[in-house]
Amino acid sequence: MEERTQQGGSFIEQIIRDDLQSGRVSKVVTRFPPEPNGYLHIGHAKSICLNFGLAEQFGGDCNLRFDDTNPAKEETEYVESIKRDVSWLGFRWAHLRFASDYFESFHRWALELIEAGRAYVDDQGPEEIRASRGTLTEPGRESPWRNRSVEENRDLFRRMGEGEFDEGSRVLRARIDMAHPNINMRDPVLYRILKKSHHRTGDRWCLYPMYDFAHGYEDAIEGVTHSICTLEFADHRPLYDWFLENVSVPSRPRQYEFARLNLTYTVMSKRKLLQLVTEKIVSGWDDPRMPTISGLRRRGYTPSAIRRFCADIGVSKANSLVDIEFLQFCIREELNRDADRVMAVLDPLKVVIENYPEGQIEELEALNNPEAAEATYRKIPFGREIFIERDDFMENPPKKFFRLSPGSEVRLKHAYLVTCTDVIRDGSGRVVELRCRYDPESRGGEAPDGRKVKGTLHWVEASHALAAEVRLYDRLFTLRDMDSMEEGKDYRDYLNADSLRVVSALVEPSLGQAGPGERFQFLRHGYFIVDDDSRPEALVLNRTVSLKESWSKAQRS
Ligand code: ATP
Ligand code: MG
Repeated sequence: MEERTQQGGSFIEQIIRDDLQSGRVSKVVTRFPPEPNGYLHIGHAKSICLNFGLAEQFGGDCNLRFDDTNPAKEETEYVESIKRDVSWLGFRWAHLRFASDYFESFHRWALELIEAGRAYVDDQGPEEIRASRGTLTEPGRESPWRNRSVEENRDLFRRMGEGEFDEGSRVLRARIDMAHPNINMRDPVLYRILKKSHHRTGDRWCLYPMYDFAHGYEDAIEGVTHSICTLEFADHRPLYDWFLENVSVPSRPRQYEFARLNLTYTVMSKRKLLQLVTEKIVSGWDDPRMPTISGLRRRGYTPSAIRRFCADIGVSKANSLVDIEFLQFCIREELNRDADRVMAVLDPLKVVIENYPEGQIEELEALNNPEAAEATYRKIPFGREIFIERDDFMENPPKKFFRLSPGSEVRLKHAYLVTCTDVIRDGSGRVVELRCRYDPESRGGEAPDGRKVKGTLHWVEASHALAAEVRLYDRLFTLRDMDSMEEGKDYRDYLNADSLRVVSALVEPSLGQAGPGERFQFLRHGYFIVDDDSRPEALVLNRTVSLKESWSKAQRS
């Protein structure tokens, strides 16, 4: 987990402290630079918390910058969803920027490299370029076009920009070193021809810059001091520096790398998540099983639980796999503190209380949340006919079964003590109804003679209960480490067939007033959120997480 420095905090905090002290930077500027080619996932949340968090901590700025240099995959829908997700997590960007706003500057810098003999137009196709890159042990081969004159390069680059040539027929490459031990430095491509409309610049350009070429310049234009990216870019850092050192940029950012977040039982790549959406394996980007921020929101996660998760897993320089149970632990702890308790029966079994007056309904007082600093109460109706959970009854119970069975006495939460007197079956022998008797002296749940009753059941009164669709979610994949798939298998081969179970539940009438986004604890079943699909006459609730504590602080240390 996190490597902490002597002064506390992550290694990046330490770098920033040193930079402020030495005067290399006077104000910290960071950025979160998503490519708008999909919705954000929990891995992005880690990067968001890190970049915005550092800016906050050191009194600096963090920009939200869309790295929209590839028109083929980018869409405005994604831009809007990303803005929404960053805001929802609770962060405010200093400036909203688009890499596409800088296309003129990139182009100017490409010309600077051409003029200095540091870039050339290559007539080789993508295949030839790849084949001549060499390997880790062998140097690459120089392109036959590498030694073109500045004039010729200038002319060809202009004509590339004017649309004279086909896609893939020519590229602009940096002229660095085809024998460089770092393959990224072997004359990387700077510009390619793409005859595609861009979501913001339309048909203005048919030349688009490559990520490595553009990224450092974007940082330099914005005055970014600490450009934080994931580990796989460590090998690109020499290139990042080369681009900045060889043109007249307005500032000199530096790149630092941290380990990306990987979670058990899930995939974390926009490309794969997009496939799940387009192949209708999930209902959309915000399907509550998705590791996207919008999916987690719909699942019932709060911004604070996600931020706490990101803070607690910390920032390190070694990749690791974080248990999804830890994310669940974060939301469970918060909801245990904040969510009101309500009664809901997911698999109802009818109970008739034979000695309770017919037609009578009592209003009982129920405490909303025993964890709350200030106690608040609501009314719940009780009557002769109620529903309990089917598995709260057993005809031939094992020894330590403290729930209902023939002849046993249990407490109905907030109500009375009842004893089961009879079991009614249908033709096939299935139990369809129970008969009970209640102790009228036990209102509130305690017997006047102080006799011990161990089990407490949740229930709903039959005539006031509301029907609700309850969606129970499980992990989307069956493999703990999705990076360890068997050879020849696809991540879709590991889908969990039971990741969604929909049940028709009965819930207490107070939920009729609950609107989308409200969260509750159902006794014994876990924490639930009212879904956006919910209507007062057709409630829909999603289970955020069960009550079971399978992951605790103790396990972490
Ligand atoms: P994906 O592979 O899911 O498409 P990406 O890295 O290509 O992710 P970008 O839009 O380029 O997605 O990412 C924006 C920022 O989020 C980058 O700085 C990237 O390093 C960071 N990021 C992406 N995935 C993770 C992750 N799993 N953990 C931490 N940071 C991440
Ligand atoms: Mg990317």
